[in-house]
Amino acid sequence: MPTQLHPETQAIHVGIPDLGGARPLNTPLYQTANFGYDNPEELAEAINSPGSFAYLRNSNPTVRALENAVSSLEGAAASLATSSGMGAIHTVLHTLLASGDHIIVQKHLYGGTFALLRDLAARYGVEVTYIDGRDAAEVTEALRPTTKVLYLETLSNPTAQVTDLPAFFAAGKAAGLTCVVDNTFASPLGCRPISLGADVVVHSSTKFLSGHCDVLGGIASFADAALHREVWSRSLETGTIADPFAAWLTLRGLATLGLRMRRHHENADGLALFLSGHPKVAKVHWPGLPDHPGHELARRLLPDGYGGVLAIDVAGGRKETLEFTRRLRLVDRAVSLGGFKTLVQQPSATSHRSMDAEGLRAIGITEGTVRIAVGLEHLDDLKADFAQALD
Ligand SMILES: *Cc1c(COP(=O)(O)O)cnc(C)c1O
Repeated sequence: MPTQLHPETQAIHVGIPDLGGARPLNTPLYQTANFGYDNPEELAEAINSPGSFAYLRNSNPTVRALENAVSSLEGAAASLATSSGMGAIHTVLHTLLASGDHIIVQKHLYGGTFALLRDLAARYGVEVTYIDGRDAAEVTEALRPTTKVLYLETLSNPTAQVTDLPAFFAAGKAAGLTCVVDNTFASPLGCRPISLGADVVVHSSTKFLSGHCDVLGGIASFADAALHREVWSRSLETGTIADPFAAWLTLRGLATLGLRMRRHHENADGLALFLSGHPKVAKVHWPGLPDHPGHELARRLLPDGYGGVLAIDVAGGRKETLEFTRRLRLVDRAVSLGGFKTLVQQPSATSHRSMDAEGLRAIGITEGTVRIAVGLEHLDDLKADFAQALD
């Protein structure tokens, strides 16, 4: 080693400052793809362990901080943060299912998950049975010797069907199925499915968990550490780990999750009440309204709030609906949900475009259905914008 390094080398071998016992109060962003070890044997061990840091596709301390935070919110043994919600769902289902296996799924389903299952069926012969998700006896009726997984959503998109998770998990458990639930719409502040019997909880953290319309991410939380390890191994092959910066932004959003969820719920509740009294609105889908089919269940299962997504059926047809959404000024026309801004979209043209007309009808979506992802604005300003666009 030369005693004086060349400038090119100096520019590369910068020292990382010793913090002298100081602890950063915020989780630092470890934007690094690999980790060095003084002892080569330790490196060899680290590369094979989900608990260690060696290479970014395996794990990262900022990503781990997010996983730990969501594990504690969900009451999980361990979590796996991924590059998107679909990344989490894909990796979990590819771990749990093999060719010829059977999965029972509720038919009120996120469009991307529906497309994934269609692909799993076409490519690998995975068999899928869709159930209404209203009565847990449907699980027992759909059972086959090859059934492996029961897949549910806490609150469905966009009509907010509420699933009786304890009853469905009990039926799934009795049949030895792995019970997976997409808890994106409820958030862990609305519902903690592991405490109700879920084996795996998945989230699109793009939505409420991060909350600021600035990041794509997903996370899967596991009741059992052994299943987490299996899915983690699978994620080494799929390469779906969260990017550290995305994880850092999500952690930043998570700090205000409690405040935001309360406001999302209050705004959605107030807006639903306002819209249900409007003559140009044929129907409002919001579990807070006494005539919603999931009203009683929502009060029991989600005592702290129903998230912030509601849907309306605009009186008239496609033309009136397009005209109404075009006229909104404050509220924007965009996909996604769970961010600070209020957004509207027509499910039949966006999130559910992979479903045919019959499939849409079966889950209560018409051409007049508009989903409203209620944000954090002042409720009076939202009401005023909807009023001027409808009138
Ligand atoms: C958005 C969403 C997903 C997919 O998540 P991405 O982060 O967009 O990949 C899955 N499930 C639900 C309920 C969602 O809203």
